[in-house]
Amino acid sequence: MQTVPWGVVSTAGTGIGHHLAEYTTLRLGGPAMRLVVADTAAAAVETVTVADTDNTGLLVLGGGSNLVIGDDGVAGTVLRMANKGVEVSRDGEQASVDLAAGEDWDDVVARLVTEGVGGLECLSGIPGRVGATPIQNVGAYGCEISELLISARVHDRSSGRVTEWAPADLGFSYRSSVLKGTARGLVLGVRLRLRRDGMSMPIRYAELARVLGVETGSRVPAAEVRAAVLELRRGKGMVLEPSDHDTWSAGSFFTNPIVADSEIETVLARIGDVVGDTARIPRFPATEGTKLSAAWLIEHAGFPKGYAGAGGRVSLSTKHTLALTNRGSASTADLLALAREVRDGVSSRFGVTLHPEPLLLNCAL
Ligand SMILES: Cc1cc2nc3c(=O)[nH]c(=O)nc-3n(C[C@H](O)[C@H](O)[C@H](O)COP(=O)(O)OP(=O)(O)OC[C@H]3O[C@@H](n4cnc5c(N)ncnc54)[C@H](O)[C@@H]3O)c2cc1C
Repeated sequence: MQTVPWGVVSTAGTGIGHHLAEYTTLRLGGPAMRLVVADTAAAAVETVTVADTDNTGLLVLGGGSNLVIGDDGVAGTVLRMANKGVEVSRDGEQASVDLAAGEDWDDVVARLVTEGVGGLECLSGIPGRVGATPIQNVGAYGCEISELLISARVHDRSSGRVTEWAPADLGFSYRSSVLKGTARGLVLGVRLRLRRDGMSMPIRYAELARVLGVETGSRVPAAEVRAAVLELRRGKGMVLEPSDHDTWSAGSFFTNPIVADSEIETVLARIGDVVGDTARIPRFPATEGTKLSAAWLIEHAGFPKGYAGAGGRVSLSTKHTLALTNRGSASTADLLALAREVRDGVSSRFGVTLHPEPLLLNCAL
């Protein structure tokens, strides 16, 4: 086997190694026996190969911003992706951009926008690392990574081969891909198709267009869009700020529920019975049916911003109903108890089941 340079942060063979709370934006998660920080793609592949061959268990970790880890932690190896590389090449009027999985996502977005490369501006301020972006098809303000992705370089954990996966291979859908929640593949990097003229993608999101003072469909200098997105996100506690407990979260805890066309009228009628008027229910067309707003459903089921559980150790963010937050001394059990209360409250009031957006590891709702 190839000897590769990597930083082994801890190889505690027995007993408690690292506390994973230090590696998640929720600041939650129990111990890990062994943590490997891989600063090359080869090191990452080797770590995965050894763990898969020995069947010892593996958690691939980026920025820990979409993970809820149980209080008992994880067995086996935690592999933190830290390989680096940003390469921009000319592709006619466009730019083809290769990013290594261990790059910090928002640092990359900031750098590209500053260099006059447009396309990622609506995805500004999303925490985490590049390699996780295809996993749940990250999206915000009318843009999803799937629209910009040429391919992802993936180590297939069953065949052991590293190949380029096209968007069709990744099976993207709303906040998901074929890789989400599986042990199928390790993302080593992504290749994106962006713009070289420094302009944004067409602005689709009404709130963003309003703040920018433009019609939806307009293109605007990418730097202006990034600034507006960051401001909007800060107002919702959606930009990490260590001193602000509203940002000690995994972002949106629940995905917006998508209701099939065959059921939507019944569902709307039931919600309308409770709130008194179906016209007020926010809804958006989606490829698979109609998307409802999880935040709106939660609020109207009786859980306002700041709603607390576990003696105040956890609460809904005071800025955004959809973020479940650690107020400083919470456990994962506290967080999940609040999540259950909210999910069950929405279900009993409206008959709509909310599903968690982050990956739940060694814990369950
Ligand atoms: C304040 C806040 C705001 C957020 N806003 C948004 C938002 O607007 N839109 C949005 O879509 N998300 C949002 N998120 C969620 C999260 O930031 C994204 O999903 C992000 O892409 C996760 O990246 P990460 O590196 O932290 O992944 P992690 O949390 O470390 O990992 C997430 C999952 O991906 C897997 N994984 C990570 N890297 C790899 C890899 N290289 N190969 C294979 N599997 C891998 C992990 O095993 C895990 O299952 C937000 C989160 C927070 C805390």
